[in-house]
Amino acid sequence: MEPTGSIPRRAPATGELVAEFGAGTAHDVNAAVGAARTAFDEGPWPRMSGLSRAEVLLRLADLIAANASLLARLDAEEVGKPLRLAEGDIAGAVGLTRYAAGLATQMHGSTYTNHDADFTGLVLRQPAGVAGLITPWNFPALILCQKLPFALAAGCTVVVKPSEFTSSSTLEIARLAAEAGLPDGVLNVVTGDGQPGQALAEHTAVDVLSFTGSTVTGRKVLDASKTNLKRVSLELGGKAASIVFDDADLDDALDGVVYGVFFNQGECCVSASRLLVQESIADEFLEKVAEAAERLRVGQPFDPATDVGAMIHPGHLEKVLQYVSVGAQQGATVLTGGHRLTGPAHDDGLFVAPTVLDGVRPDARVFREEIFGPVLSVTRFGDADEAVRLANGVEYGLANTIWSKDIDKVLDVGKALQSGTVYVNTTIDGAPQMPFGGYKASGVGREMGQAGFEEFTELKSINIRTGKRRGTLGLGAGPAATD
Ligand code: NDP
Repeated sequence: MEPTGSIPRRAPATGELVAEFGAGTAHDVNAAVGAARTAFDEGPWPRMSGLSRAEVLLRLADLIAANASLLARLDAEEVGKPLRLAEGDIAGAVGLTRYAAGLATQMHGSTYTNHDADFTGLVLRQPAGVAGLITPWNFPALILCQKLPFALAAGCTVVVKPSEFTSSSTLEIARLAAEAGLPDGVLNVVTGDGQPGQALAEHTAVDVLSFTGSTVTGRKVLDASKTNLKRVSLELGGKAASIVFDDADLDDALDGVVYGVFFNQGECCVSASRLLVQESIADEFLEKVAEAAERLRVGQPFDPATDVGAMIHPGHLEKVLQYVSVGAQQGATVLTGGHRLTGPAHDDGLFVAPTVLDGVRPDARVFREEIFGPVLSVTRFGDADEAVRLANGVEYGLANTIWSKDIDKVLDVGKALQSGTVYVNTTIDGAPQMPFGGYKASGVGREMGQAGFEEFTELKSINIRTGKRRGTLGLGAGPAATD
């Protein structure tokens, strides 16, 4: 059934109407989950060979690659991000889909014949069932592909709820999946606001749920999932630190710090929004960071010279600017930026000047809370122990970056950091093989890599006794199952 209402999408860089999405309801979610349930319980997808599933996923990857310009244009327009970043997202989506195709052929369990002579244990790894995927607006196609091909490779059937702001690339990828040969009912998309997301999280016919978004909504999703105790993985907010030691290659570190925070307008869960810099180099390094921030070109996504795009919606722009005021009230100095950019190059777009706040105390809100905009908070440290304490002194634990040439220090600090990812002498970097997820309030579970694939599978132990069974209830020694 088609949703009744619609949600208009205005491009954040221009204010122009660029799309309208169906306003899905709980009723639409019910229909979509019903289709996915039937496809899982009765359809060919979970029953076909891993090789056959891989072939479909490889065709899907080829189709995403062949439609890369369209997909990148849709994401650039609806997110407000520079086109070249959106092109990178689509290239990433292709790589993830190809990698996941390989996992379909490698899905296997294990066998135990080392318990006693008559016992054989088979551990089967099977598809988890119907997977619900709820995705955010900052990397619409890329985050979809951190989940979707992994769920499909495992043999799950899927219902996706993309963000109400950025649903076009998801709808297009679903169309390409059908063209690639995905059977009917295996992939279903319900667009709309939080309401269908909530309905998906609550639905008792959904077996596994994978969510990316804010920690606030993640808690609601976890609560909603208790209906049938479905397995939930949550990829939530972050407050990553760039830790710059005085023995780092400072040119590389400068480049990485600026990239780490202003990439994707700072609308990125692993955005390195805190700079922790060693006191001995802080003044000189910071001057260069501020200069580099001022050189960045903020503007229209389709201008090839643009480095930093627009904020996702007016309310978010206000929130980001509000954080700058709160930072200043709590003692920070605005070294650069801190205001909205207007004028001919910016039309009616939602642009914030790249901002650097110096002298941020560890108890300040801008140190602790996710801003999700182009705002860098700077705090100085004396030694490695203090750097670790500061980095870990927030509720989040998604990612951190170390800039140092001292391998002993890198390993000591890397082990002590409470985050699912640590980048060393690079930032916002990785590969489909690397599991991704958070410690603490940054989430539960992992996506990508073998671990991400396994989130969409179930284990089943088949305990087989081949000799004469040793005893019956109340007699003899009894089975040795829990020895
Ligand atoms: P949300 O967490 O609200 O949205 C993420 C997804 O969840 C969207 O598809 C959203 O739909 C959906 N959703 C909303 N409410 C519910 C619900 N009750 N149950 C199930 N699904 C729901 O993020 P926002 O878009 O509101 O962004 C707010 C903040 O979240 C940002 O400022 C940022 O701090 C953080 N964020 C973090 C991201 C990350 O990558 N970790 C990504 C995006 C945001 P809809 O879009 O229609 O509301």
